[in-house]
Amino acid sequence: MTIKRKQKHVLGLSGGKDSAALALYMRDNYPDLDIDYFFTDTGKELPEVYEFLDKLEAYLGKEIIRLNDDKGFDYWLNQYNHFLPSGHQRWCTVQMKLVPFEKWVKSYLDDGYEIVSYVGIRADEPYRDGYVPTQKFLTIKMPFADDGLVKADILTILRSTGVGLPAYYDWRSRSGCTFCFYQRKIEWVRLMERHPERFEEAKAYEKNACENSTRGESYYWMGKNEPLSTLEDPKRIQQIKEDHLKRRERYFKKKRRNSLIEDEKLIEMLDLDAIYDDIEGAGACTTCYK
Ligand code: SF4
Repeated sequence: MTIKRKQKHVLGLSGGKDSAALALYMRDNYPDLDIDYFFTDTGKELPEVYEFLDKLEAYLGKEIIRLNDDKGFDYWLNQYNHFLPSGHQRWCTVQMKLVPFEKWVKSYLDDGYEIVSYVGIRADEPYRDGYVPTQKFLTIKMPFADDGLVKADILTILRSTGVGLPAYYDWRSRSGCTFCFYQRKIEWVRLMERHPERFEEAKAYEKNACENSTRGESYYWMGKNEPLSTLEDPKRIQQIKEDHLKRRERYFKKKRRNSLIEDEKLIEMLDLDAIYDDIEGAGACTTCYK
């Protein structure tokens, strides 16, 4: 005889718009579900993310559980022989986001629960596995995809609840660590302008990795042969800004007729991957930016 397990409903907030809108959507449309909202904190998040979580918490009327791995980025960097995380070696997401989540749900699984985890994948994007469960009784649900909600609906939810968008959408397209390697060059420039101390920290990590990594080659967050210190040259900054403007103009010429969103600056940040001819998310894990 199969014994029916108790269910624990959880929803991970990345600090991004989709998971936030999903939390609001679930609260307002599925009030009978007792959902635990959580945020896995790397300790290197943008200050705007913490401000946004506070606003969300106020609307949800419920504490957002903060998970972290207790050790932090510096510890793991040392464990990985000063080898910076990258798209190919994303140890940061594994050690600082996925493992703390797995540890947290383990006690519920051991206690006989089935975990139902809600993820903010929308109906207008390909389904992607932000989190591939390794535990047997962990089920992923995608209510936006199932209920047919698209990007414009997500903005409507955020605006109509008064929560709005995280403030970093003024200058950056994704949540996550200040030094996330998924940033575009223009976002590195803006990080330097908006949060110079966070930029200096990223620069120091990069310098340390180049000097101490046993990998045998230099890896730069901005790309081949381009350390962050390149941005000390105003000419390079100018080039990056001009290149970005050209791409932006080209994109807007194509986009204008179909756009449902009126604010160009917002479109620029929401569609930044498309401006750079990339798929939404550009390969980043939904755990970090959704
Ligand atoms: S936001 Fe970027 S740097 Fe931070 S954990 Fe995710 S992938 Fe790694």
